Amino acid sequence: MEQTSQSRLGTPQKTIEIIQKHNFTFQKKFGQNFLIDPHVLDKIVRAAGVAGDDCVLEIGPGIGTMTQYLAERARHVVAVEIDRNLIPILAETLEGYDNITILNDDILKVDINELARVYNQSRPLKVVANLPYYITTPIIMGLFESQVPVDNITVMVQKEVADRMQAGPGSKDYGALSLAVGYYAKPYIAANVPPNCFMPRPNVGSAVIRLTRHQKPPVEVKDPGLMFRLIRASFNQRRKTLQNGLNNSPEVPFSKEMIGAAIESLGLPPSVRGETLTLEQFAGLSDYFAEHG
Ligand code: SAM
Repeated sequence: MEQTSQSRLGTPQKTIEIIQKHNFTFQKKFGQNFLIDPHVLDKIVRAAGVAGDDCVLEIGPGIGTMTQYLAERARHVVAVEIDRNLIPILAETLEGYDNITILNDDILKVDINELARVYNQSRPLKVVANLPYYITTPIIMGLFESQVPVDNITVMVQKEVADRMQAGPGSKDYGALSLAVGYYAKPYIAANVPPNCFMPRPNVGSAVIRLTRHQKPPVEVKDPGLMFRLIRASFNQRRKTLQNGLNNSPEVPFSKEMIGAAIESLGLPPSVRGETLTLEQFAGLSDYFAEHG
C-alpha cells in the first residue's frame, strides 16, 4: 500500500512532529533510538529481501517508521512493541495500512512459534528490526535456540556486536557469539550506520547485519548443548590455555586428564588457546567428551 510522502516517517522533521504532537518522551531503558534516514531504511528492507508473500516480524516498531517500509513490500507485518505509550502513536501513523498487526508485548516473552502459526501458517518468518541494543544477544539467540521458523534475521545492532558476530578464529572479536551465530546462520554486514541517522543519537556506531539461517548446521555434533558449554568455558578465561580454561570452569565436569586427551585427539598442542579453535574443532572436542565422558 503506497503512502503519500507527507505521511511518511523516517525524516527528522516528521519524527519531531509526531513526538511533539503526542508528548512522547524517549525511554532509555527501552533502547529507544529511532531511525531518521530514509536511505538506511531502504538498505535494511532491501538487505532483508522482503517481498511478495513474506510475513515479517518486526521487533520494536517505535513510532512505526520502518513498519511503513515493511508493510509496503510484505504480505503481512507483525510488530511487537513493549512501550505502551507508543501504541496510540502507532495506531495513528500506521492507520492507512491493512496488513499490520501491532502487539503490545515484550519480545522475550512472546511465543514466536505461535505468531508464525497464526500469521504465516508456520512457514518461516523474516525478522527485521532496529533492535533495542540492551537485549540484542538474548533476542537473536532466543530466535535461534527456540527453533522458531525463520528465513533470515536482518537487524541493526551495535557495530561492535556485528563485528563479533562475523569474526573468525584468531581475530580479536572472535568469541562465543561468533561461534553461536556461525552454527545457526551465515552472517553478512550489509551497512555501517553512523549515530546521526538516529534520534536521539546513540553513543556507539551501528551496523545492519543479515543472518541467513542454515538449513542444516555446518557441523554435526552429538550434543550441541555440551559444545556451547565448552565454547563459553573456553572464552570466559581468554588469557588461559584451552586446557586450563576448561579445567577451571564449573560448567565442565571432566577431569584434567580427560581434557588433555580430548585436546590431543584433535591433534592440537596442550598449549593451544580456545580463541584459535574453529567450530569444527569445538564440535570434535564436544563429541570426544560425549563418547568418553
Ligand atoms: N523501529 C524503530 C525505528 O527504527 O525507528 C524503533 C527502534 S528502537 C532502537 C527499539 C524499539 O524497541 C523501541 O521502540 C523500544 O520501545 C522497543 N523495545 C525495547 N525493548 C523491547 C522488548 N523487550 N520487546 C519489544 N520491543 C522492545
